[in-house]
Amino acid sequence: MNERATTGPELSAARSVLERLPPALHDINDRLARAFTAAGHELYLVGGVVRDLLLGRPVTDLDYTTSAQPEETKRLGQAAGADSIYTVGEAFGTIGLVFAGVVVEITTYRTEWYPTADRRPAVRFGRSLLEDLARRDFTVNAMAVHAVTGELVDPYGGLRDLERRVIRAVGDPRERFREDPLRMLRAARFAAQLGFDVETETREAMRELAAELQRVSVERIAMELDRLLVAPEPDRGLEFLRETGLLPFVLPELVPLAEDVADRRHKDVWRHTLLVVRQSPPRLAVRWAALLHDAAKPMTRTVDEQGEVHFFGHEVKGAELARKALRRLRQEKALVERVARLVELHLRPAAYDETWTDSAVRRLMVEAGDLLEDLLDLVAADVTSARAWRRREARARIERLRAHIRRLEEEAALAQIKSPLDGNELMAIFGLPPGRWIAKVKNYLRDLVIEGELAPGDKETARILAERWLAEHPEVIESARERTGRR
Ligand code: ATP
Ligand code: MG
Repeated sequence: MNERATTGPELSAARSVLERLPPALHDINDRLARAFTAAGHELYLVGGVVRDLLLGRPVTDLDYTTSAQPEETKRLGQAAGADSIYTVGEAFGTIGLVFAGVVVEITTYRTEWYPTADRRPAVRFGRSLLEDLARRDFTVNAMAVHAVTGELVDPYGGLRDLERRVIRAVGDPRERFREDPLRMLRAARFAAQLGFDVETETREAMRELAAELQRVSVERIAMELDRLLVAPEPDRGLEFLRETGLLPFVLPELVPLAEDVADRRHKDVWRHTLLVVRQSPPRLAVRWAALLHDAAKPMTRTVDEQGEVHFFGHEVKGAELARKALRRLRQEKALVERVARLVELHLRPAAYDETWTDSAVRRLMVEAGDLLEDLLDLVAADVTSARAWRRREARARIERLRAHIRRLEEEAALAQIKSPLDGNELMAIFGLPPGRWIAKVKNYLRDLVIEGELAPGDKETARILAERWLAEHPEVIESARERTGRR
């Protein structure tokens, strides 16, 4: 393989890579390039940042690989004007630098990096850029760009694979996946993020080695799954997991659903699920809920005498399943609860129609609490009928529910805008009978609430203000006293 595999059209692509950096990043790159070159070190942009620049995707942080040792990198980073430095990754050769909010990671050339069975990463520093690129997972992630010259180093045909839109392992895929089985899941994640296919041999190796994924810690698996789910084409990644047989080792809870595709017993819940995930907004809790919302359908399926299929209680069973799956993946407690609750509630808004009273809608609002937005988005995505009129009708129903909720919210907000003290309270405070004075005091207090000078529930302050105002307006009270006297 040619050490400098950049020719003709590739070189012109390479030249423009540095120019594609947004100005702030371009400036940081210049400063680092000068500092490292002056010290006689090599510095290359590498991995995802090169891939994304070539694809024209937005880039917000910078990743470099260098011949400098971490100690030296710290010194040079400071010389280049970094605001702060973090060293949590130093044992793996990574120094983090922050320049005006931009995160830059610079890693010393490595030859090996994959967590061993006991989860301690095995790291060996390498001697050259090419050694470093050789240990990376996929060709599109194994390119580097010289920080000074902009020269593209692409020993594995990453640029060609970017053009063909394929994920291909660097070298022998079996070897790569045995070294670090997480790479198989990463292939699915990149397919979902980039909308790429996975090259045949790489795909075959995944089918063969799927079970190896059991060696990988759940934390690493969960992190890749999260990234896959919020990607632009999560359905592509998920279907790929099913096809290659990775699913049982990643999300065993979904296997019954996925097997459904093969025997087509009931309306293809798997394809429906993928579509709901795809249609839902890319927020983590919503996407997880979309993935799990029908997961309990296979085990709750019944057929009645008329031959109709039911899934009684699948939302409750599904919530249990969601909790189990997300706990197993050691997801954060707040996310686990959020997703489980969304699954549990997912049928409620879909049942909305004109017979729902205000109190029925209010009950849903209170039960959903801060999940309401997520819930409505989930339910809107949960409309995948093949018939256009059905989809239109279902969407219109959810829109009407949204409008109903908005109206109740506005009414509730308006109901807040009133005097904190009512007539009875005012009479008790001032020891006066009913009369026009009450309306006058209440109007005065309500205006203060409207102006934001008095909180709607602040009776204490309201009392003090009312007393002061009445003292300043004796005529209001006088008429009330006269009437008392007359009685
Ligand atoms: P993103 O933009 O989504 O972060 P990325 O390509 O930067 O994508 P990271 O997981 O941040 O992905 O990894 C950075 C780079 O490190 C990759 O591009 C790849 O070259 C290399 N890499 C990361 N994880 C592995 C791994 N498990 N095996 C081999 N190489 C890896
Ligand atoms: Mg990255």
